[in-house]
Parts: sequence; structure tokens; C-alpha cells
Amino acid sequence: SCALVWFRDDLRLDDNPALKAAQASGRPLALAYVLDEESERLRPLGGAARWWLGRSLAFLSAAIAAKGGRLILQRGRAGDIVPALVEELNAAAVYWNRRYGAAEIAVDTALKSALAGRGVAVESFGGSLLHEPWTVRTQAGDPFRVFTPFYRSAGRQAVRTPSRADDAWSFAGSARSDRLDDWALEPTAPDWAAGLRASWTPGERGARDRLAAFLDDDLAGYATLRDRPDLARTSRLSPHLRFGEISPHQVLAAVRHAADAGTASPADTEKLISELYWREFSYHLLFHFPDLAGTNVNRRFDAFEWQDDPALERAWRRGRTGYPIVDAGMRQLWQTGWMHNRVRMLAASFLIKHGLTDWRRGEAWFWDTLVDADPANNPASWQWVAGSGADAAPYFRIFNPVTQGETFDPDGAYVRRFVPELAGLPAGIIHKPWTAAPEVLRRAGVVLGETYPFPIVEHPAARERALARFARIRGD
Ligand code: FAD
Repeated sequence: SCALVWFRDDLRLDDNPALKAAQASGRPLALAYVLDEESERLRPLGGAARWWLGRSLAFLSAAIAAKGGRLILQRGRAGDIVPALVEELNAAAVYWNRRYGAAEIAVDTALKSALAGRGVAVESFGGSLLHEPWTVRTQAGDPFRVFTPFYRSAGRQAVRTPSRADDAWSFAGSARSDRLDDWALEPTAPDWAAGLRASWTPGERGARDRLAAFLDDDLAGYATLRDRPDLARTSRLSPHLRFGEISPHQVLAAVRHAADAGTASPADTEKLISELYWREFSYHLLFHFPDLAGTNVNRRFDAFEWQDDPALERAWRRGRTGYPIVDAGMRQLWQTGWMHNRVRMLAASFLIKHGLTDWRRGEAWFWDTLVDADPANNPASWQWVAGSGADAAPYFRIFNPVTQGETFDPDGAYVRRFVPELAGLPAGIIHKPWTAAPEVLRRAGVVLGETYPFPIVEHPAARERALARFARIRGD
């Protein structure tokens, strides 16, 4: 008999509690991944995340092969596949790290009882969160709805120390496996993933290298520079965390170590840690509000009159709104599968507040195009920007894309990189090209309305319209 480890959002060997426990059982290991696109209500991965998954599984397979084993790949309903694997391999127990979405929990719960009925134990572990969602509660026993008290409360609790996988590997004879290539997770015709390949190294080693580079180069100064898309001083660990190639425990321990070693200031490490807790908070919300991507947490927003504006939405997706900072962000997203956090806020705010577009439409586009498309962080952040979330940004905060661009991309370097048709404009004008003198535009080779659009909506009017519309649901 063997121990079956079912990998899900935890594509790593180190600091993997399920794998560690399976190794400790002393039984030979069988390691499997199931591509489940059939179980009820599971949200299919978007295109960019599928690309990442394909690459990450290739890395994990190679890492396991280097230890003398083989990652078993199977596609279909997990509720059918896992019991069949248990049977075929004569597994005595199944090990996994927990998931927190409602559909995933339903799959796992049903499996656990089906396997128990056959006398096969399931051992589940907390692998991807610092704190299990049910362990962080208000004094009244309710889930927190506001980040700061959540962070204060969770931050007081102990976090486990990350572990390494055991060096002694022993594998069971393995089952039939699909070929990863047959899953066609990576695009071929058209191959839109060139920019993704150039930007990222999916897999556990890539995650470890990214963390090391961040600690060396970018943690010092993070608290102040993290808001500057032109400087790219954030960790870019989000897709690695999304797929569990690195655990938040590993990131937290490394950051604390840097603080102890004096290589980073308390302000910088504290800021990074609080961002890790925003991720925790999102998962906590997902656990308590299972339809986070579909339903307003604040139900008053159900009455909000969203508008359908296909032209605006198309311009937003393509990075042709006429607001350079928004367009740069949307093009960074399309080219690299990632967008800087400050610009995500601006781009989301623009679609929701300037376009009065239902946040769910923007969330869906991000879901399809982000390599870090995350079942908790993405809908929680969109709801936060819309104001429909648990802990919402105030509805009257309507970012001005010009002043935001001038503040956070002061030299225009970010815009120049992703909106090259504006590259010749001077910094003072690059965030508002429609105000430039004809002579300045001509010298830069910009023909508004031709090489680059005029703003698709005017900021002051859009702002007034949004305030009035949002006031309706407040009963003002
Ligand atoms: P760093 O600044 O280096 O932070 C380290 C880690 O902390 C991140 O990798 C991430 O796991 C976590 N984190 C940082 N900021 C946030 C935040 N605001 N909320 C939650 N966790 C955070 N993040 C995703 O991981 N997946 C998404 O699908 C996603 N969608 C978003 C959509 C919108 C509209 C907005 C405004 C934000 C979204 N975020 C999402 C949050 C945030 O933008 C990204 O986590 C961050 O930009 C990732 O870059 P980084 O790894 O360099 O972050």
C-alpha cells in the first residue's frame, strides 16, 4: 500500500504539509495532479492561469522525476479520479492541503466521506494560508469584515515555521498518466504567450529565485516605492503564491529573517507582511462569502444601476481609453499577464466609476488575463474598488487618472514602456496628451484621434455622474 498525495494549489515540494505527512507515514508515495474541469460549479481557469499551470506542472514533474518518482497526471472529475487512483494504487491514505472556495470544499468533503466509506483515511492540512479562516474571529465569534482588526487579531496568532521535504524519497509503482502536452494548457494558434514566457519562470525554483531577488534588491524601500509602477519594486510573487509554488509561511519567514539581519527596515518588512495579510483577508472573505465573484458582499449594491457600454469596455480591455496610465496598465496586463497593484486599482476604478460598468465584467477580464488570477484576491479586490465589498474603499473615492499618473509615474517611464506611441512626449504632458500644444504633439509624432485616442469619457463629467449614481443606492 502507499500514501497518495493529491497536489492542487500547492505545486511545491518544500513546506508542503500534506507531502511532509505522507513522507512521515513511512509508506511509499504516489503523487498526483487532477485537471478537474467537470466538477459542479468549479470555475474554469482563465487563459493566462492555464499557461502558468502548464509550466508549473512541467517543473513539478521534472522535480519529482529528479527524485526518482513520477507525477501522475489525470483529467476529469476529481470525485471519480481520486477513488479510482486509490483503488489502482492500493493507497492506504490520501493527503491534501485544503482549498477554500465553496465548489472546491464541496468536492473535497464529498470525497472525504466517500473514501472513509471504503476505509481510506483522508488527511487534510492547512498549506496555503497563514491562518485557517475559521480560526480568526471577532470576540462575538463572527468573521471580521474590516481588514485592520482582522490583521490585528490574526497577527497575534502563531504561524508555523516552514519545513523542507524529507531527503529520503520512496515511491510506489505508479498509475497511468496523461501527457502534459495533451492537455494543451499553453496556447498555440495564435500563440499569445510570448510576453508571458519572457516575463516569468513558473515553478518552485522560479518562486525561490524571485523571493531571493526581491529580498536582495527591492525589500529595502518597499514601503515607499511599492506604489511606483515605473520602478517595479514589488515582489512579483503573486502568481507563485497563487499556485502554491511558495507558501506565505516561507515568504514571511524570509522577510522576518531579513529584518532580524538588519537588511530591511521595520517599516518595509511590516508593509510587506501586511500585504500578505491582505491575501489572507481575501481568502477569509471567500470562505465566509462563498459567491465572492458573483454576488455583492454589501447587498445594497444589488440595486446599483450598472451601465452597458460595449465601446468603453472594449477600449478599456485594449488599453485605448485615452488615459495613458490606465492604458499602460491594461497593456501591461495583456503583454505580461500581470499589472502593478496601484494601476490595477486605477484601471478597475476607471471601468467601474468612469464607465459605470458592473465590476463583475472587469473581474472576469482579469480572471482570464492575469497569471496570478486568484479566486479570492481578484473578486475581493474588485469588490473593494467598487465599494460593494466587506471593507470597501469609500464610494466617493474616484481616482483622477491624470493626477494619479503624475504622482505615481512622475517621469512617465511606465507609460513610455507600455504605450510607446506616446514615448516622445515630455513628462509634464504625458499623462494628459490632449492638453498639449499642437507643436508638442507634432514633435512627438502624436496625432490624437489617430495614433492615440482622445479620452473616451471626460473625467469631471464622469466623476459627477458616478457620484450621483452611487448616491442613489445610499439613499441620499
Ligand atoms: P507585493 O506588493 O510584492 O505583495 C506580496 C504579496 O502580497 C502578493 O504577491 C500578494 O499575494 C499579496 N498582496 C499584495 N497586495 C495585495 C492586495 N491588495 N490584496 C491581496 N493580496 C495582496 N492579487 C492576486 O494575487 N491575484 C489577483 O487576481 C488579484 N486581482 C486584483 C484585482 C484588482 C482590481 C486589484 C486592485 C488588486 C488585485 N490583486 C490581486 C492584488 C494585488 O494587486 C496583487 O496581489 C499584487 O499586485 C501582486 O504583485 P506582487 O506580488 O508584486 O505584490
